[in-house]
Amino acid sequence: MTATQQQGNAGVVIVGAGQAGYQCAESLRQEGYAGPITLIGDEPYTPYQRPPLSKSYLLGEVDKERLQFRSSSYYAEHGIELLRATMVTTLSPQTQTLQLSDDRTLAYDQLVLATGATPRQLTIPGSDVAGRHYLKTLDDVDRIESHLQQAERIVVIGAGFIGMEFAAVARKLGKTVQVLAHAERVMERVLSPQLSDYFQQLHQQQGVEIAYGMDVERIESAADNSYRVHCSDTSHYQADLILVGIGSLPNTELAEAAGIICDNGLLVDENGASSVPHIYAAGDCTRYSHPFAAAALRLESVQNAVDQARAVAAHIAGQPKPYTTVPWFWSDQYDTKLQMVGLAEGCDEQVLRGEVASGRFSIFHYRQGALRAVDSINKPADHMISRKLLAAGVSPNKEQAADSGFALKSLLG
Ligand code: FAD
Repeated sequence: MTATQQQGNAGVVIVGAGQAGYQCAESLRQEGYAGPITLIGDEPYTPYQRPPLSKSYLLGEVDKERLQFRSSSYYAEHGIELLRATMVTTLSPQTQTLQLSDDRTLAYDQLVLATGATPRQLTIPGSDVAGRHYLKTLDDVDRIESHLQQAERIVVIGAGFIGMEFAAVARKLGKTVQVLAHAERVMERVLSPQLSDYFQQLHQQQGVEIAYGMDVERIESAADNSYRVHCSDTSHYQADLILVGIGSLPNTELAEAAGIICDNGLLVDENGASSVPHIYAAGDCTRYSHPFAAAALRLESVQNAVDQARAVAAHIAGQPKPYTTVPWFWSDQYDTKLQMVGLAEGCDEQVLRGEVASGRFSIFHYRQGALRAVDSINKPADHMISRKLLAAGVSPNKEQAADSGFALKSLLG
C-alpha cells in the first residue's frame, strides 16, 4: 500500500494490536463484517496477552508462543492485515487518513483506537539507571530477565497489582524483596482495607518486606552495579534490580492532536464511539460512563478491553450490542487467586462468606442494602455466580451471603 487507499474501500483500521485491538478484529469477522481490516501495532510481535507477563511467563512456566491470542497465520486466514512494528504517528479525521512511521498514508472508513496505556514514569534523579525496569511488554520482560538472574536484592517501587505480582514472582525465585509503597496499604486503589490486610500478610508470610507512606527521592548507582534507593524520610534500600509500578497513563496523544475529546482517557459512549464521527476506541485508553458506575471511569482490565472491543465491532458491523458487562478482574499472587466483580466504591457494608483463615472466602460489598461487588479469594464458584447475580441485579440478603451452605444460584431461578 504505497498510496492513499480509495475512500469507501478502506475498511476498518485498528490502531494498537493489544488485547482490545486483536479482539476488535476478531469480533468484526464474527459479527459478519466482510470489508478490509487492518490491525496496526508498534510492537514487533503477533498480538499477545499481557497478564502472564507478571505471573507465569516471568516465572518461566509458559513460553512466548503460548502468549499469543492466535498464531500469525490466523490473521491472513481471516483477511486481517497485521502491520507489526508500525507506529501510527498522525491522525487526520478530516481526510480520514493516518500517517504511519514508515511514511505511508493509510485511509480508513471506520477507525478504532486501541492504543492502551503506558506505565507512569519515575522522574526522580537516577530514575534512568540501567537496573530500573517497568513491566508492560514482552520487551520489558526480556530486559528484566537479563538482570533478574544475577540480582539478589529487589526493590519494588509501588504496591499496586503489577508491583505486588512482581514481588510474588521475585520471592518465588528466591530473591530478597522490599516493596516501597507510597500508600498506607497494598493495592489501595482497588482493594478494600480487609483484602489489603490479607495480601499484606500473605506477602509478609512469604518474606516480602513492605514499607508504607514512602516517597522515593533519588536512586544512586554504586560501583558494583547495585543501587541505593533513597526515600524522603532518610531511609535507603540497597537493590540489584528496581521494578517501578506506579500506575499508568492512557495513550491519547494521537487522539488529542486530532481534536477528539479526551479527559484521562478517550471519552466514549456505550458503543465505543468517540466525539468524532467514524472514530471508536476500546480498552485501557478509554474512559466510559459505565451503567454500573457512579461516574465515568477508566478500567485497566482484560474484561474491559474485550467487552468494549466487542461492542465497537458489533456497532461497526451494524448489530449494536452496547457495552454493559459488570466489570471484573483477577490477579494471581503465589497460590492465591483473587477475583473481583462489580465496583466496591461507596459501599457501606461488607459480609464475609467462608473463613479468612482457610484462604478460601469471599467478601460481599453492599451499598444501601444492594449488592454492588464481590471479591473472592480462591473461590472461583463464588465469583462466577456473583457475576450472574450482579448482572441480573439480584441481591442475596446478608444472611444468605454469609451462609456458605446457601446455594446462591437458587436466587437466579
Ligand atoms: P494494550 O494491551 O496495552 O495494547 C495497546 C497496544 O497499542 C500496545 O501494543 C501499544 O504499544 C500499541 N500502540 C499504542 N499507540 C500506538 C500507535 N500510535 N501506533 C501503533 N501501536 C500503538 N488485567 C486483568 O484483567 N488481569 C490481570 O491479571 C492483568 N495482569 C496484567 C499484567 C501486566 C504485566 C500488564 C501490563 C497488564 C495486566 N492486565 C491485567 C491489564 C490488561 O492486560 C490490560 O488491561 C489490557 O492489555 C488492555 O488492552 P488494550 O488493548 O487496551 O491495551
